[in-house]
Amino acid sequence: MIVDRQGRYFRNLRVSITAACNFACTYCVPEGYRRQKAKRPLNGSQLLQAVKLLTRLNPIEKLRITGGEPLISEYFDEFVSGLAAFDFKDVSLTTNGQFLVGKAAFIASQKIRRINVSLDTLDPVKFRAINRGGDLDSVLNGIDAAQKHGLSVKVNAVPTRSGNLDQIVKLLDYCLQRNIELRFIELMKMGHLLGSSEFSNEFVSMDYLLREIGNVYDFHRVETAFDSTSIRFEIPGKGFFGVIANESQPFCESCTRLRLSSSGYLHGCLSSTNKHYIADLLEMPENEALGILGERLTHVIADKQSTAFRGGQTIMRVVGG
Ligand code: SAM
Ligand code: SF4
Repeated sequence: MIVDRQGRYFRNLRVSITAACNFACTYCVPEGYRRQKAKRPLNGSQLLQAVKLLTRLNPIEKLRITGGEPLISEYFDEFVSGLAAFDFKDVSLTTNGQFLVGKAAFIASQKIRRINVSLDTLDPVKFRAINRGGDLDSVLNGIDAAQKHGLSVKVNAVPTRSGNLDQIVKLLDYCLQRNIELRFIELMKMGHLLGSSEFSNEFVSMDYLLREIGNVYDFHRVETAFDSTSIRFEIPGKGFFGVIANESQPFCESCTRLRLSSSGYLHGCLSSTNKHYIADLLEMPENEALGILGERLTHVIADKQSTAFRGGQTIMRVVGG
C-alpha cells in the first residue's frame, strides 16, 4: 500500500473513461473547446486492466465513473460490465444526464447503485447558457428514470454569479421534493479559470449559499466520513444537502482520491500539473507492471497538496472532476 507522510493513501478511484463531452459548460471548458476525445484513448479492456493493477496496490473501496461525459463513451457498457469482477464497496457514476433515460435500466442492472447528475438550473434558457449543449427536459426525465429504476440520485450544482444565483433555493426545493441530496460544488480554479478574473467574478462561497438557504429553511450540520469532501446539512423533516467547499474549507489533509484519465495518466491531485503515464504498463506481464506501477504511485501521491487546493491547469473535462 502506498502511504504518504501525512498518512494519506488511495481509497477512492475516479476513472474518466472519455475526455469527450456533448456539453461545454462555462465553468469546465472555454468556449469553442468541446467534444474532443483523448488522442489515444484507452479502450474498455485497457481501462479495466488499469483498474485491476491499481486495486492490487491500493486498498481501493470506491470507484466513480466520470468523464467528459461517460454515457457517450463507446466503452461505457464494457467497462461497467467488467466492474462485476471487482469487489468494490461502492461504484458510482457522474453524468450530465442528457442520455440517462436510455441508459438507466442498464446502469441499474449493474454494480452501480448511485449516480450524481449535474444540474445547475431549472430554467431552460439558463441551462443552454451554462451548459452550451443539451436540453433541460432530457436531464429531468433522466433523473426520473434513474429513480424509477431504483438508483439513488444526487444532484451536483456549481453556483456562479452570472449563471444561477436565483436557482439556489429552486434547485434545493426540486431535490427535497424527490428525496435527492443536492450538492453545491464551489467553483474551482481549474483550466481556463486558473489565474483569470472570471474565477473571482463568478465565485459563490459556501457562506453565501448557507445564508440564502437560511432565509428559507432551518438546517444544521451533520457528521460525514473522514475523507468525505462534502459538508452535509439536514433540513429537519425535509432532507439533506451538501456543499463541496474546495475554497472555503479545503479538505486536502484527508484526501484519498486517485484519478485515471482516458489517455492513461494518473493524477494524484487536481492542484498539480503533474500526471503520470501508465498506459505503457497495461500490456505487460502483471508482476513486471506492478513493480513499475508501485514506484510511479509514490510520485503520484507526492503530488497531493498538504492543506489547501490552489487550482490547476488541467481541464475538468479531461480529468473528470
Ligand atoms: N460530464 C459529467 C458531468 O458533468 O456530470 C462528468 C464529468 S464533470 C467534469 C464532473 C463534475 O465536475 C460535474 O459535476 C461538474 O459540475 C464539475 N465541474 C466541472 N468544472 C468545474 C469547476 N471549474 N469547478 C467546480 N466543479 C466543476
Ligand atoms: Fe461536459 Fe461535465 Fe464538463 Fe459539463 S462539466 S462540459 S457536462 S464534462
